[in-house]
Amino acid sequence: VKSDGRSGFHVFEDEMRSRAQDRNRLVNELRASVARGEFELHYQPICEAESLRPRSAEALVRWRHPTRGLLYPDEFIGVAEDSGLMEALGRWTLERACADAASWPAELRVAVNLSPAQFRGGLLFDSIIGVLMKTGLPPHRLELEVTESMLLQDREENLLLFRRLKDLGITFALDDFGVGYASLGSVVSFPFDKLKIDRSFTSELPGKPASRAVVASIMTLARGLDVEVTAEGVETMEQLAYLRGQGIDSVQGYLLGRPAPFGPLERARAVVGCK
Ligand code: C2E
Ligand code: CA
Ligand code: CA
Ligand code: CA
Repeated sequence: VKSDGRSGFHVFEDEMRSRAQDRNRLVNELRASVARGEFELHYQPICEAESLRPRSAEALVRWRHPTRGLLYPDEFIGVAEDSGLMEALGRWTLERACADAASWPAELRVAVNLSPAQFRGGLLFDSIIGVLMKTGLPPHRLELEVTESMLLQDREENLLLFRRLKDLGITFALDDFGVGYASLGSVVSFPFDKLKIDRSFTSELPGKPASRAVVASIMTLARGLDVEVTAEGVETMEQLAYLRGQGIDSVQGYLLGRPAPFGPLERARAVVGCK
């Protein structure tokens, strides 16, 4: 409580005002950075569970902020979504990722996260075709990661978009599987190639019975649907061993490699194996 004699309400009002100002400043900085392309992609390997050979790398965006250094998506993706900047940032990300991947070994694919704004925009199909033509990346080397919440608005339209992209050879992964609120039926009616088990479950393996049950049921579901499963957030050998025992297809996490800029050295290492 402040001792300047002003009421709690005024203190609250001041706080709200300065928070709104902070946000406005962030939106303006973000707009300028999107125009100047002040972002970087870091890549994290996704490895085949038995051999630990990298099969793909997930592109994770970072903001090279003019004064605050490198910012992580949690600090700006939400703001970008709400301020209408995500479509432009998403397009930049997709193009950068495909251009990078075009110079990798041919067996290494790239996984790109899509945002709800990109889905809603209606321009996704054309912009993906454009990016593939421009970068020369073969469509089968691109995987798109989506979350369930972004599919269920305009469901029929999205299903059509999905099918058209899949016809090109692009694959789809359902991200953060298990944490959403959508009904199982409506999600699995989309022709996914892969389910990604959320880190919140992986991190509690193998000790926590509830997480073991979730993982086991995702594995059963995936076999029934004939889709692959990737576990995210694998940090320990125990987690890796447990997931291998469950028949997991691929693994991603700090144990295998942290997200990092993808330079020539990594490019060479990618052919040899994770870590
Ligand atoms: P996500 O798609 O679930 O990405 C995985 C996040 O988990 C990444 O955080 C990654 O750095 C982190 N991670 C990976 N392995 C481990 C691990 O073993 N332990 C721990 N503690 N964390 C691990 P990051 O890069 O901060 O990204 C956060 C989220 O931001 C992503 O979650 C994704 O939803 C979103 N995001 C990132 N890049 C993009 C993008 O280009 N476009 C869109 N639309 N969203 C993005
Ligand atoms: Ca992802
Ligand atoms: Ca994820
Ligand atoms: Ca996650």
